[in-house]
Amino acid sequence: MQRIDLKALSIVGIESFVTGLGLPLFRARQLLHWIYEKCARSIDSITEFSKGLRERLSETAFISNIDLLDKQRSEDGTEKFLFGLEDSETIESVLISDKDRLTLCISSQAGCAMDCRFCLTGKLKIRRDLKAHEIIDQVISINRLLPSDTKVINIVFMGMGEPLTNLNEVSEALWRMTGLMKISKRRITVSTSGVVPGILKLYDNAPHVNLAVSLNATTDAVRDRLMPINRKYPLRPLLDACRKFPLEPSRRITFEYVMLKDINDKLEDAERLVKLLRGIPSKVNLIPFNPYEGSGFRRPDDASVLRFQDLLIKGNLTAIIRKSKGQDILAACGQLKAGYPAKNRQNCSPS
Ligand code: SAH
Ligand code: SF4
Repeated sequence: MQRIDLKALSIVGIESFVTGLGLPLFRARQLLHWIYEKCARSIDSITEFSKGLRERLSETAFISNIDLLDKQRSEDGTEKFLFGLEDSETIESVLISDKDRLTLCISSQAGCAMDCRFCLTGKLKIRRDLKAHEIIDQVISINRLLPSDTKVINIVFMGMGEPLTNLNEVSEALWRMTGLMKISKRRITVSTSGVVPGILKLYDNAPHVNLAVSLNATTDAVRDRLMPINRKYPLRPLLDACRKFPLEPSRRITFEYVMLKDINDKLEDAERLVKLLRGIPSKVNLIPFNPYEGSGFRRPDDASVLRFQDLLIKGNLTAIIRKSKGQDILAACGQLKAGYPAKNRQNCSPS
């Protein structure tokens, strides 16, 4: 008989599993607590249960875990983790610490179908969507590695993949993160390249987390060239969807803008950006291009990035220049490839 993976079950699924075995419902709450808060690796490690109960549960069920294959640490303290999935696909997550604040950047797909020209993940093409438990297991696995009084409390879906083309699994993962892991929805951000129908669906189907949109250009001509998704959902419908996206007071949409030398870094771009975002509660994250071998793009010099930022600020936008973290280990935005050379690897297989 094939055993059931408890992590692959929703909350309701766990409840039916427990009652199906003739156990009281509070056992479901205990299981969920041990899996999502205490990060239990196996049924056998649930010490709150008697040996008999653990054996009984293990006859029909198990707890799956993604495999931590490798870990790299950048000079600036950023850490990149390589995980292996059940079918041998690999994904990466990045842990960024900034002034005691830990942010985990997680993947929603193995590879990505969107083919943005400047993004290394895009070069992999899509391998497959991640299941909700594979998304959430990135957080659980990292929590296990942290000191017992520390947990990941900020999450950004800015790793590999386009979250809004895997909306059902991403929504389920978000429900579990907010409901079972007790991570505040205000501390989770889902970033999209602009999958317009997914934007409102996310609001309707998932907890109301923060939205980030990778805008990266101010004209359709340039955006078409950089991000093929723009040919399907050009700037106008994209920004209309952002205008319709319900926001609680004091919350804003983040617009990411990868700065590419001589492509989207001109003063006219800054002026157009101010106009495009008018009326949308927004903040702009300027991300100077993170280079990788053979990319064909260049990063503008610091002075032009500052000038660009200054124009946005003069246009009444909040604009932040995002420091690149973890570039030396290809852990910065758009540098994830889930398969770095073996010589850089530090083996850290779980015990
Ligand atoms: N697929 C989603 C989530 C990934 S986020 C999205 O595109 O929004 C990855 C962020 O890094 C995006 O804002 C993307 O525009 C940016 N990015 C991709 N490649 C980059 C690179 N080489 N340098 C800097 N930023 C990059
Ligand atoms: Fe995919 Fe985002 Fe990279 Fe584009 S920028 S290829 S959507 S991961």
